[in-house]
Amino acid sequence: MSGFKTVRGMRDFLPEEASLMKSIESKARDVANNYGYKELITPVVESHELLAAKAGEEVRSRMFVFKDLGGRDVALRPEFTASVARVVATTLRNEPKPFRLFSVGTIYRYDEPQRGRYREFWQSNYELMGSVRPEADVELILLTQSLINSVGLKDCAFKIGHVGILRAIFAEEKLVERTQSTVMQLMDKKLYDDAINLLKKAKVSDKCLETVKQLTGLKGTDAFGIIENIRKTVESYISAAVAVKNLFEILRLILESRSNVEIMVDAGFARGLEYYTGMIFEIYVPDLGIALGGGGRYDRLIELFGGQPTPAVGVAHGLDRIMLAMQDKKAPAEMKPCGKVVVVPASEGVAGDSLRVAKILRDAGVPVELEVMGRKMAKALEDADRRGAAFAVIIGEKELKEESVVLRNLRKREQKVVQIVRIADALSE
Ligand code: AMP
Repeated sequence: MSGFKTVRGMRDFLPEEASLMKSIESKARDVANNYGYKELITPVVESHELLAAKAGEEVRSRMFVFKDLGGRDVALRPEFTASVARVVATTLRNEPKPFRLFSVGTIYRYDEPQRGRYREFWQSNYELMGSVRPEADVELILLTQSLINSVGLKDCAFKIGHVGILRAIFAEEKLVERTQSTVMQLMDKKLYDDAINLLKKAKVSDKCLETVKQLTGLKGTDAFGIIENIRKTVESYISAAVAVKNLFEILRLILESRSNVEIMVDAGFARGLEYYTGMIFEIYVPDLGIALGGGGRYDRLIELFGGQPTPAVGVAHGLDRIMLAMQDKKAPAEMKPCGKVVVVPASEGVAGDSLRVAKILRDAGVPVELEVMGRKMAKALEDADRRGAAFAVIIGEKELKEESVVLRNLRKREQKVVQIVRIADALSE
C-alpha cells in the first residue's frame, strides 16, 4: 500500500466537497454576470518580478518561488490582482473605461495551515477599472453581499477603513514609503504598539504619534459617528481630510442604496497588500472569526505596471472559507443529486440497449448513471436509492420488443411503461 499523502497545506476535495466548491464557483460566476464582469483566465505561474512588485512583504515572503527549466524566476500566483493589472497594462491598455473583470481559481501562499487557512485555496476576484468615484467602491461591497447571500449565508458584516487616511498623515510627516508600508503591515496584524515604536524610531512628530494612537481606538457600528470622530482627529492633516470625506461618501451611498449592509468602521484597519490607496474592506459572517473576503481601492497599480493611469477597485473572496461557513451553518447548498436517473439493465442481454437509452437521456440533458456492476435488479435499485437518484429506467427484454422501457419513480415507488422516444419527456411529467 502506498504511503503517499498530500503535500502540507494542500488538500483533496472528495466528490461531495468538490461539487460544493464548484457550486460556489458557479454562484460567483452568476454574480459576475449580474454585475457585468467579464471573465479573464490568467496563468497560475507568473514571473516572480511581477508578483513580488507590489504584493506587500507579508504575501511576498510566502510565495511559492522557483526557477523553471529555462532558468526563469517564476512563482505561483499569491493573488489575482497582479495578473489582472498586467493584462490591463498591456493587452487591454486601450480598452474604453470602465471595464469589469472577473477571475476564479486557485491561489498559493505558504501560510501556516490551520482551519480556513491553506497553502492552495480558491478565490473569486472582481476588479472594476477606470472609475475614481465612490459608486465604484460601493459596487464591490454590494457585489460581495450578493455573493454571500446567494450561497445561503444571510447575515454578513463588513469592516471598512481607508488607507488614504494613514497614508496622508505619513506623507505629510515625510515618512518614506517603505516604512509606511511596514507600519501598515504591523497595524494589519493589530500590532499597534510595534507600529507606534517604529513611528517613534522614524522620528515622526508627537502629533502624529498621538493621532495614530487615537485612530487605532476609533471603531464601531455607528458608522457616521465614528467618521465624525475620525474627521476631528485628523483635522490638522489636510490631505487626510480628503480621504475621510471619501469614506463618508462611500458610506452615504451604501445607506442610500438601501441594501441593508451591516458595517463596522475601523480607523486603525490596514490590509497587508501594499498597493491599496483608498477604501479597504473585509467581510465576516457571525461565528466564523476569519474574513471571507477582502478588497479595496488601488489607484496607482496599473501605472506602476506600465499602463495608462487607471484608478481601480477590487475584491477577492476566499471560496474555501465561504464553503466552511456554509458547512458550519448548514446553509442549503443546491447540490445536484448524484446521477438523477439510473439506467438498470434487467438482464445480461440488454447491456447494449441500456447504453443506447442512457445516451438518449444524456443527449436530452438528463444526467444518467448506468448500472455497470451487473447487479441484480433489487440490489441495483437499493443502491440507486442510496445515491439519491429520483428515477430508475429499467431496460427489460419484454418492453424492448415494443421499443419501450419501465420508468420507476424511486421516491413515490410507482412505475409505468414508457416508449423510448418519449423517455426524456416522461421524466419531467
Ligand atoms: P487577500 O487576497 O489577502 O485580500 O485575501 C482575500 C481572501 O482570501 C481572504 O479574506 C480569505 O477569505 C482568503 N484567503 C486568504 N488567504 C487564505 C488562505 N491561506 N487560505 C484560505 N483562504 C485564504
